[in-house]
Amino acid sequence: MNSTGVDRSDSRLLLDARRIVVKVGSALLVDSATGRINRNWLQTVVQDLIQLRKRGQEVVLVSSGAIALGRRHLSLPAGLLRLEESQAAAAVGQIALAHTYKELLESAQITVAQVLLTLGDTEQRRRYLNARATLNALLALGALPVINENDTVATAEIRYGDNDRLAARVAQMVSADCLVLLSDVDGLFAADPARDANAAFIARVDEITPAIEAMAGGSVSNVGSGGMVTKLLAAKIAVSAGCAMCIASGHHEHPLARIENGERSTWFLPRATPIAARKQWIAGTLRPAGAITVDAGAVQALRAGKSLLPAGVVGAIGRFERGDTVSILSPDGVEIGRGIIAYSDVDATRILGKRSSEIAALLGFRGRDEMVHRDDLVLTHGAAAARVGRA
Ligand code: GLU
Repeated sequence: MNSTGVDRSDSRLLLDARRIVVKVGSALLVDSATGRINRNWLQTVVQDLIQLRKRGQEVVLVSSGAIALGRRHLSLPAGLLRLEESQAAAAVGQIALAHTYKELLESAQITVAQVLLTLGDTEQRRRYLNARATLNALLALGALPVINENDTVATAEIRYGDNDRLAARVAQMVSADCLVLLSDVDGLFAADPARDANAAFIARVDEITPAIEAMAGGSVSNVGSGGMVTKLLAAKIAVSAGCAMCIASGHHEHPLARIENGERSTWFLPRATPIAARKQWIAGTLRPAGAITVDAGAVQALRAGKSLLPAGVVGAIGRFERGDTVSILSPDGVEIGRGIIAYSDVDATRILGKRSSEIAALLGFRGRDEMVHRDDLVLTHGAAAARVGRA
């Protein structure tokens, strides 16, 4: 522990992370007096992000601020906006945001990509998978995705409204191992620090208990829409996806470097890694949509930790879509594992037994080389193996 009562070892979670999602809130990004971007401060955030990338870490930025910026441009009155006014403000402000990130990042030769997501993109399986594939492709190509909610088209009932939960969903989507919410508070306190100066600071949360949830009352800032309540909801999403989450103050320059230096922040710790959490979720699927039978060679390859290629598949049972969880059966019909399949039953049947290089010619589009990627696959062990697909 250092003088702030924070265990500095938690800051290693940021230093050691492979893929990091950073969320910047409106209250930090936009000066509440002028309605303009706090550009000097933002530059120091961007410098920190560049530092992470120099260390080989992958970075996704979730940035709020579109509505707060746009309302000034449109001279909208202070106070609560009507839905269509916020949407109009978002349309205007998002351009200013994108422009600023492009300028700041491209001066460091980093290609910036804008991705605007709606709730449906993160909650509906097919759209989730598409968004996930796009973000993974952007990261593989070296771009830095800057994400916001697509406020202009989202309607009141079907929008996040806060980027805390959106950032957590994005972290889950890209299997990030660290999510940082830069906020106008240092982290979680046992009581509202604005009312109780002696409120104890909580540096680490191993489990989100009802007592922790009770601490989340109050602490609502006037520019952003995410108070401590949405941060805890975000923490739940993140940790259950195997991602550590940090709430830290963004009120200083170089806020990420400060976290690494052990400045006060609250860390929510996951129990598993993102891959283990994902695999747990796959293994726990109650009713796989269908099944595929593989040959003996594929059984061996899977046991050796390889992906399942179309060449090793001999049959498809039931109706399933790309992205569904299916059972994987040995040649004698015993379930040996489960996985998320990259093809529908119809397409799987057309490419089974074939080489991956033939997929494009057979289907007319270039899908994945693997029928089930090894990251999307869990093998069932021993007694858990069940007979499926044969009455
Ligand atoms: N998406 C909103 C914006 O860009 C912000 C949501 C939030 O404050 O968390 O203005």
